[in-house]
Amino acid sequence: MRPSIKEILLMNPDTDTRTVYGWVRTKRDSKNVCFFELSDGSCLKNLQVIVDKEKYNPDDILAKLTTGAGVEVDGLLVESPGANQSVELQASEIRILGEAPAESYPLQKKRHSFEFLRDIAHLRPRTNALGAVTRVRSTASFAVHRFFQDRGFYYIHTPIISASDCEGAGEMFQVTTMDLNNIPKTGGSVDYTHDFFGKSAALTVSGQLEAEIYALSHSNVYTFGPTFRAENSNTARHLAEFWMIEPEMAFCSLDGNMDTAEDFIKYVIGYILEHCAEDMELFNKFIEKGIVDSLASVVNSEFHRVTYTDAMKELEKNKAKFEFEPSWGVDLQSEHEKYLTEQVFKGPVIVTDYPKDIKAFYMKMNDDGKTVRAMDVLVPRLGEIIGGSQREDSLEKLTARINDMGLEEKDYWWYLDLRRYGSVPHSGFGLGFERLIQYMTGMQNIRDVIPFPRTVHNAEF
Ligand code: ATP
Ligand code: MG
Repeated sequence: MRPSIKEILLMNPDTDTRTVYGWVRTKRDSKNVCFFELSDGSCLKNLQVIVDKEKYNPDDILAKLTTGAGVEVDGLLVESPGANQSVELQASEIRILGEAPAESYPLQKKRHSFEFLRDIAHLRPRTNALGAVTRVRSTASFAVHRFFQDRGFYYIHTPIISASDCEGAGEMFQVTTMDLNNIPKTGGSVDYTHDFFGKSAALTVSGQLEAEIYALSHSNVYTFGPTFRAENSNTARHLAEFWMIEPEMAFCSLDGNMDTAEDFIKYVIGYILEHCAEDMELFNKFIEKGIVDSLASVVNSEFHRVTYTDAMKELEKNKAKFEFEPSWGVDLQSEHEKYLTEQVFKGPVIVTDYPKDIKAFYMKMNDDGKTVRAMDVLVPRLGEIIGGSQREDSLEKLTARINDMGLEEKDYWWYLDLRRYGSVPHSGFGLGFERLIQYMTGMQNIRDVIPFPRTVHNAEF
């Protein structure tokens, strides 16, 4: 394969003419020389190309070297006198592969707002910031697999279409092949026996319940896939389609779960700091000043751990500061999460043992009968990035909980079977991949860390 610009920038000057490919980023012209910068997306840095106009001066081609144009350049890699790079390309021939007329090309040199760029999601990966996000995202995906694979976890592909009734209510996107203008009904309600799956189906909101099946055969498993929630809110940390990582571990208690979550976050951050140093420097300078040092210190310190009850006491001491009054029994609002991570603990914190009424039915009940073995990992700037728990492994208690919550036992038959046959303590968590990317890059809006964000009224690209 031909070398990328990233590889070329690390090479020594050589004596054979080579051909380089990329898109023009900037051009400076003077009487005798023309300089332009080429990018092929392989790294943040560009390859500087120099045209000595006394030797080679095709006016028509030089005029077409505008920002965004795709080109093929023959030239000699020579030592660069400039301070920014050690090599540059001395062009002997330039071919324009695709023009990008300056009058209409939307990405000119100046910095564009992220809002503006969202409307041109087909061109925004060509900018420095979104280009860097793209590389960090890819590298982080690899690190996620690496972390789990190195530790013997199996990667499970849980279904995207789910026709089981035991996922979360509300927030779901229905999947149907029925004609919406002519929906079959019996007795006033929709008759799903005529639908593709013979029952109502939806896009998955979590792969956890299915991952539990495999944890109870393969011990340590994880999922990493798209997840869909019809979030009707317009926040900077919710998408309708996002990627979730969900490990599930058998013979594992809440403490083991917290240890894995903490090791995992530190591992991915460490991996990015090491492998994406150049891109991280961009975020450090232009997006979130000081983020590199602050992430490095996260990797080297322990996450705080506090029970919900103690966290609540801390918040109640400072009631006046909040719009939503903190009190035992209510869920933490994002202002509370911010306060805990930024003011009280000054770093990531794991909150455990939440009141049962604000958590899902499958979480293991504590002996107090009031709280469950839940854990949320909260981080500065963002709030929650992980939600997890030890799962209820007692058939009796899980059945009671399903009934208490007004759910139908029959809808959970296979989930209950897992407690009937070979039930063992097990735990897991869900991490929103985009929130982790936001945390690592400092990007403020979740729509800018996924290539094609899906939110209310937005699915153009
Ligand atoms: P939140 O309170 O922020 O809506 P949640 O309690 O609904 O989160 P969980 O159901 O515990 O979240 O999901 C696990 C993780 O998935 C969350 O910690 C978060 O990182 C991520 N997540 C949840 N909903 C979204 C979303 N709509 N967009 C992006 N990430 C999400
Ligand atoms: Mg939510």
